[in-house]
Amino acid sequence: MKVAIIGGGVCGLTLANILEQQKISYELFEKSRIARKLLASGNGKANIGNQNLTIEKYNHPFGYQLVSKYQNQLFEFWKSIGLHTKVDEEGRIYPYSESSLSVLDCLMKKPLHILENYPIETISKINHKYYLNDVRGPFDYVVIATGSIASFIPKKQEGFYHHLENLNLKMKPLFPSLVGFKLNCNFQRLDGVRIKCRASLLQNDKCIYEEVGEVILKRDGISGICILNLSSKYARLENKSNCRISLDLFPDLNINIKSKEELVGLVHPKLVSYFQEDSLEEINIKLHHFSFPIVGVYDYEFAQVVSGGISLEEVNQSLQLIQDPNIFVGGELLDIDGMCGGYNLMFAFCSGLKIGEALCNIK
Ligand SMILES: Cc1cc2nc3c(=O)[nH]c(=O)nc-3n(C[C@H](O)[C@H](O)[C@H](O)COP(=O)(O)OP(=O)(O)OC[C@H]3O[C@@H](n4cnc5c(N)ncnc54)[C@H](O)[C@@H]3O)c2cc1C
Repeated sequence: MKVAIIGGGVCGLTLANILEQQKISYELFEKSRIARKLLASGNGKANIGNQNLTIEKYNHPFGYQLVSKYQNQLFEFWKSIGLHTKVDEEGRIYPYSESSLSVLDCLMKKPLHILENYPIETISKINHKYYLNDVRGPFDYVVIATGSIASFIPKKQEGFYHHLENLNLKMKPLFPSLVGFKLNCNFQRLDGVRIKCRASLLQNDKCIYEEVGEVILKRDGISGICILNLSSKYARLENKSNCRISLDLFPDLNINIKSKEELVGLVHPKLVSYFQEDSLEEINIKLHHFSFPIVGVYDYEFAQVVSGGISLEEVNQSLQLIQDPNIFVGGELLDIDGMCGGYNLMFAFCSGLKIGEALCNIK
């Protein structure tokens, strides 16, 4: 039995380790450098998981079900590759070294059969065997773990999606997620200001999702971890009209100032001058409802993940394609995305474990 793995991200490398441990023959093909996103994740610290798993952390219950089922195995797997971890007060799991490179070094401890700078463009099937780019093969099973186009510069936005066309798979529409919003605002003078507040995503004045945290104002929009989480909900809205971001600058206090001088020492100095042209009444409204229409989100280049991908209707519980069970799909290429906090890497790891388990059972 021989397996082809397409994509050297967390999903592909986790699977390669399992197959290596189980002495199953495989080759992993990586189009450029392995684990580029893992290395960039968590600002180089790699937030690889989270102990606070709840169903709403993922766009679809499937993500939650898979990760909650495999989380103990995931700790065992990290142990088996020598990765020590620690958990912060919010349940976020990091490598003990706080370096994403340690995660990659552990994934690469055993020599793996990897071909880097080897883009796969075609998968063909001849007499029940698979060939990649018509020259590599034969393989008995193919695992597609090519990730998403998040963080790619616009010209390179193809990802692996167009190579999937001949498989005729149902795709959920793609949209940048875990990304900042472009707002109808003029934040020229506020660029870079950070505010701890409650951020709400509103549609037709109804709150869809809110979170307390730090936001970062940009010249034409807004970012920050809680804003990225709002974008995860926004990405899933079929109709995105009449949406706004509203900030409550004092979520725990009922602030009502009597003169503009009171702003000094109350809000960021740049906000003091920003509010100078407003009336007292307008300022008092804005302190609790600093609200701006959403123009859109920043491009895929600035997104941490992509919402959408191969529809879950196309795979069974073992992540095999229903139309061809000898082809598996894992990681972010699937229509699964999570919120900030390690949920996306955790899904990539666990889907690699799931596919590994299925292949070991076949062996
Ligand atoms: C800046 C940034 C920070 C992030 N931080 C976090 C974080 O802290 N915590 C968290 O949980 N998530 C984080 N994420 C998201 C997380 O990194 C991804 O969800 C996760 O890496 C997806 O893993 P994957 O294995 O599915 O895909 P990827 O890691 O994207 O790997 C897919 C691989 O397939 C290769 N490939 C694509 N096409 C082909 C082809 N045709 N032939 C061969 N190879 C191909 C790609 O080059 C890539 O190496 C972050 C993402 C970004 C961009």
